[in-house]
Amino acid sequence: MGEFEAIVVGAGPGGLATMAALLDTGISRILWVDRSFGGGRLNELYREISSNTKVGIYLDAIHSSATCRRIIDSTPKPNAVTRLEELNSDETCQLELAGDMAMMLINGILEIQGVEKLVDRVEEVHYNKELWKMKASGCSSSSSSSLKQASAPQLHLCTGSQPIHSDLHAQYNHNLIVLDLDECLRASHLPSLLPPDSHSTIAVIGNSHSGILVCRNLYELATFSPSALTSTSSTAPSSISDSSTLPSISESNTSPSTPISTPDSGSGSGSGSPTLTRQLSILNFRRRPNKYAEYRQDGIIWDNTGLKGSTAEWAKINLDNEVESESRPETHTDTGKIEPVLRQVDLGDNESSIYAEHLPKCTHIIYAIGYESSPLPALYLGPPSASRRIDQDIEFDMHSSGFTCDLKDGNENVRVKGLFGAGIAFPEQVKDPQGHVEAAVGLAKFFKFTQRVKGDWAKVG
Ligand SMILES: Cc1cc2nc3c(=O)[nH]c(=O)nc-3n(C[C@H](O)[C@H](O)[C@H](O)COP(=O)(O)OP(=O)(O)OC[C@H]3O[C@@H](n4cnc5c(N)ncnc54)[C@H](O)[C@@H]3O)c2cc1C
Repeated sequence: MGEFEAIVVGAGPGGLATMAALLDTGISRILWVDRSFGGGRLNELYREISSNTKVGIYLDAIHSSATCRRIIDSTPKPNAVTRLEELNSDETCQLELAGDMAMMLINGILEIQGVEKLVDRVEEVHYNKELWKMKASGCSSSSSSSLKQASAPQLHLCTGSQPIHSDLHAQYNHNLIVLDLDECLRASHLPSLLPPDSHSTIAVIGNSHSGILVCRNLYELATFSPSALTSTSSTAPSSISDSSTLPSISESNTSPSTPISTPDSGSGSGSGSPTLTRQLSILNFRRRPNKYAEYRQDGIIWDNTGLKGSTAEWAKINLDNEVESESRPETHTDTGKIEPVLRQVDLGDNESSIYAEHLPKCTHIIYAIGYESSPLPALYLGPPSASRRIDQDIEFDMHSSGFTCDLKDGNENVRVKGLFGAGIAFPEQVKDPQGHVEAAVGLAKFFKFTQRVKGDWAKVG
């Protein structure tokens, strides 16, 4: 069995920040385990999404770690970090640039002596006699068997989160097709998820960052289809003959979209012209008005839950009435009705009556109702003969990064020794300058948290 000072599960942004902080404290014999080492969801799923973090904030975060500074200094230039440095530090960027930066640092850390890499899934971990003993699934044939069963006094869970699913729609319309949030966040995946030649009415539940991003992707698909430029389908429901009127779909496109051609809008109707719209109606159901981050001298209000970057600009223009309602694009339903392409619906005090009114008319639904912790490895406390499974009973302390557990033996909320968390599933709790309490989420926030608590980690061992 391999013996280490720490085992870190997960190599997304949370695992990266944790590894950097551990190495900064001098803990160097570390087993780092991840199913894929692809940089977590940020790099594996969300590269094409616009970042809500400013470039300068990423750069400050990674430079807060001495380990990362050494990797940056020793990596041949140009590299992923110098590419970010060339950008305006006060602007946001595509997440692919942040993903490349994370991968450069992950690969740099894996080169450090003492760090062992295991590409595998951690299935269970047992704590006994001051050591966490880990078993991996063994799905990776490349790793040595000593790594698949390793032990360390510290176990760091950086296992990430996944979108919350729901079947709320079933009672209103069980025929609705549920579209996966992660797919819909990627504009390039959307065209294949929706029928090209019939009208779809799509319910998007939730108006946080993910919900608004999905609305934007759908809206841009409805109002301008890039693939249509090469399409010569004669079944095209509408067309624009003058390409100079095409709205830009670049990241920086935050201006009101050019009025869109609909079947009857008359902006070029020659048959055989390229298809330029998808027939979509988008209904975004919300419990509260759209919330925007506000940059102030003393900090950022709603830093973690407010809309930011180009998504915020798009929402201000297209949802919060910076476009006159008469110039908003409209679409034709299959029954010939004309309705707005995009509309937000307030759920108010009687959500069920609103859903009952609208969901029967919808064809698809996307739940953007938050994220929940990805399944944890099975965690056990105590000697093999009397061990107790605790992963369902642990509670994360958003200030210390440790965990407590109610052992149901009269000693409530006992501290679980040597168990720590970081990343989106285990974030720090922060207060913004107006006193709003939020979970601090994003690569830079994970660095801030782990750098603050790393001194406590160094005491375990
Ligand atoms: C729409 C959207 C926009 C975003 N914008 C930004 C942004 O602008 N800036 C920013 O910093 N972040 C942004 N994020 C957030 C970012 O994607 C996540 O915060 C980040 O990926 C979370 O990192 P993590 O390491 O906590 O989890 P993950 O990225 O999910 O990584 C967890 C890792 O753990 C591994 N793992 C889990 N369980 C096991 C196991 N049992 N054994 C082995 N490996 C395991 C997984 O394979 C994965 O690689 C955005 C997210 C969304 C949805």
